[in-house]
Parts: sequence; structure tokens; C-alpha cells
Amino acid sequence: MNPSTSGRDVTIIGAGIVGTVCASYLLREGHRVTLIDRGDPGAQTSFGNTGGISPASVVPVATPGILRDVPKWLSDPEGPLHIKWSHLPKCLPWLLRFLRASGTERAKAISRALTALNMPTFDAYEPLLRDAGLLHLFHRTGQLTVYKSEEAFEHERFGIDLRRDTGVNVDILNADEIRQLEPALAPIFVKAHFIETHGHCKNPFGLVQGLAEHFVRNGGILLRDQVKGFEFGPHGPEAVITDSGRRPLDTVVVAAGMWSDGLTRQLGHKVPLESHRGYHVTLPDPRFAPRRMVLSADYKVAITPMEMGLRLAGTVELAGVDAPPDYRRAEKLLKVGAEVLPGLNAEGHTRWMGHRPCTPDSLPVLGSSPKFPNVYYAFGHGHQGLLGASQTGKVIAELIAGRPASMDLEPFRVDRF
Ligand SMILES: Cc1cc2nc3c(=O)[nH]c(=O)nc-3n(C[C@H](O)[C@H](O)[C@H](O)COP(=O)(O)OP(=O)(O)OC[C@H]3O[C@@H](n4cnc5c(N)ncnc54)[C@H](O)[C@@H]3O)c2cc1C
Repeated sequence: MNPSTSGRDVTIIGAGIVGTVCASYLLREGHRVTLIDRGDPGAQTSFGNTGGISPASVVPVATPGILRDVPKWLSDPEGPLHIKWSHLPKCLPWLLRFLRASGTERAKAISRALTALNMPTFDAYEPLLRDAGLLHLFHRTGQLTVYKSEEAFEHERFGIDLRRDTGVNVDILNADEIRQLEPALAPIFVKAHFIETHGHCKNPFGLVQGLAEHFVRNGGILLRDQVKGFEFGPHGPEAVITDSGRRPLDTVVVAAGMWSDGLTRQLGHKVPLESHRGYHVTLPDPRFAPRRMVLSADYKVAITPMEMGLRLAGTVELAGVDAPPDYRRAEKLLKVGAEVLPGLNAEGHTRWMGHRPCTPDSLPVLGSSPKFPNVYYAFGHGHQGLLGASQTGKVIAELIAGRPASMDLEPFRVDRF
């Protein structure tokens, strides 16, 4: 476990779940690893996600028919999508690319790429969780997606078929079976799909913190600093320039989530990243809770029993990275909660907003730079960064060791845009 003298010196920018998993894998393989973050590990987007770990979550955000859905969602103030109109001119080019990715054949190709990334998630997490004593944070009790009408269920058919294409079993349940599985849910759902092999993390922030602590205990270097840019030599970047000065580098991994774009630009590539701002509320004493993660397809809200209470999360708000949170969206999650779990106690709840780092094609940027041999990318995991982080870290370790990657990285190239 101790860093060897023969490994490489690797600098990772960003200690969210993605950067921290990359750091853990690289340290495990004997490299000397420095993980830099301007804040605490996991304190940004990885802090407040819903904890869903769903290997068969292989449905891109843009699916066929989304053009019909968007106007409906936007016209509903309670709907799952909100655009701050002053942000529209800025995000329009991204939106057009996003819509172009929604054709049936394109969506199927994206789904195949997501399958390669997401299916191994539990296996790829396992060695890290075991080393760090964190196996107890993962619950593999399945995920239940509920529908209030047959029409809503039929609307999801394409997505259910894509999930089945991965080979996982998707059970279709009726109202009675839903009640037996999750008695706390209101009797308002007529159909559900259930994936038994899915699961959730009971404490996404605790996961990153636990991995980072283990990393430091085993010789990894964790620095609190802001990376501003790079100093270049004849073969690529030779140093990172931070708030506290210049730090020489041998190999660098950009894993700065939503903030990766500025760094990547300096490294010669422009990646269209848009924040899908999402909100959560966490109820410390909910009184009623489902036994497993439940997703409401009608409201696009996820409900997860966690260590610190019941978390309800969802919504996509396009308003840029700098706009302050609009906590009316978080309050709407409470309304959904009250309908789905009657008698829910919201007293003492906390609210949070985070930036899902989204590319238009729902695929992260993962792999080596075609420009510089010492630069690697691991960002843009959008709605699925907790899910995709483990295989991402494994692949980054394979590439840096000079081994062939255990999956096809072509769809994830940095220069695909
Ligand atoms: C409401 C909501 C629900 C979600 N639910 C799920 C779910 O159920 N399952 C799932 O898989 N995913 C989910 N996600 C998505 C998931 O949380 C993200 O994809 C993931 O957290 C992204 O991780 P990251 O490490 O790339 O980014 P982050 O966690 O944002 O980490 C990036 C880090 O880089 C640091 N950084 C940035 N720039 C610099 C710089 N210049 N110098 C130094 N440090 C820098 C930041 O401080 C930050 O710590 C959800 C997201 C939201 C918002």
C-alpha cells in the first residue's frame, strides 16, 4: 500500500468523488499521488447527491421525445426543469447539442458507452471500500421507480428497454406489489419497475471523506489550494500554478467536476459543460421512509434513506454556476415528499444545491489527452458521477500504468465536441 519509488508522480486536480477515487486507485498501484482541492474533499457536488448506484442506469438525459417533453416541463412551475431566462443565450449552444444527441440511434450508442462505464461500478468500488473500511456505506437493496399512470409508464418504455439491453432483470410491478415492497408509499402508484441489483450509498459525503482519509493515512498528499493554470514546457504542462505558487508536475489528471472546463481549455481542448443544478432536502427525523431508494418518474425526484435521515433530491435548473441557489426548488421537493409519503415529518430539514457537470451527450470526458502525453481527463459525469467514479478511477490507473484500458474509451474522448 505504500507509495513505491518506481511509480509516477501524479497530481490530481479536484477531490470530489471522481478525483478521490482516481487518487485511491493510483496510490494503491504504488504511484506518488498529490490530490489538490480548494475546499474539503467531497464538499461540492459529491456532498449532496442522492446516493444512487445503478449499474443499469444507462439512459442518456436526452432521449427520443424529449423535444415534446421540454415545453411541457418548462410551462409547469412545479416541473422538473427550469431555465433562468437570462442564462438562455449562454446555454443555447449547449442545449442545441443536447437535443442533437437525443435521436434514437445516437441515444442507443450513448447507452452502450454508459453500459461499459456503469455496469462494473460495484466491482470497481469493492477493493477501495474494503481497504478503507467503508463497505457498510453501500446498500444493495434494489431501486424502485414508481409511476402514477399507465401513460407515464409507457413514456418510460424506451428507457426500460435500454436497461434490459444491459442484461439486468427489470421487474414490472402492479399497485399491490408496490405496496408489499414499500408499504410507506401512498397508494397512488399504478405501476413500477424494480431493479433488484441496484443500490445506494448511505452517505455520499462520508464516502469521499472516508476515502480521502484512507488516502492520506497511506501516504497520499492532500493539498488545499486553488489551481489557476499550468506552466508549459516543450512536451506539455510541467507545473501547476496555484494560489500559493508553482508546483512541478510529472503527470496530471483533471477531475475538477463542473470547474474542469477552464483548466481543460488551457490544455488545448474546449468542452461544452453546463451545470444541471440540482437540489436536495434532507429530513433528519422523517417518521416514514422507504426501505430502499425510490424514484418518482412523474416528478423526477429520488428518495433515499440515508444515515443522516431521508433525502429527497432532483430537479434540473439551468442558471449557470454563479447564480445563487433558488431554494423554492428545494421546497417543491418537500411537496412531492408529502404526496408520496403521507405523514412525512420535515421538521429540521436542511437544503442544498449542487452542480452536476453535464456534457451534451451525457458521457463524461475520460482518457488521455491527444495533445500531451502526461495529461489525463476524468470529469463531466453529470447525473451519474457517484455511479461512474469507480470505473473511471480504475481506467485512469490502467492508462497511467501504460496498460490497455478495460473498456473502449473512444466515445469519451476530450476532442469529440
Ligand atoms: C441533486 C443531485 C442528485 C444526484 N444524484 C446522483 C445519484 O443518485 N447517483 C450518482 O451517481 N450521481 C448523482 N448526482 C451526480 C453526482 O453528484 C456528480 O456527478 C458527482 O458528484 C460529480 O463528482 P466530481 O468529483 O466530478 O465533482 P465535484 O464533487 O464537484 O468535485 C470537483 C472538485 O473539484 C474542486 N475544484 C474545482 N476546480 C478547482 C480548482 N481550480 N482548483 C482546486 N480544486 C478545484 C472542487 O472544489 C470540487 O471539490 C447527483 C447530483 C445532484 C446535484
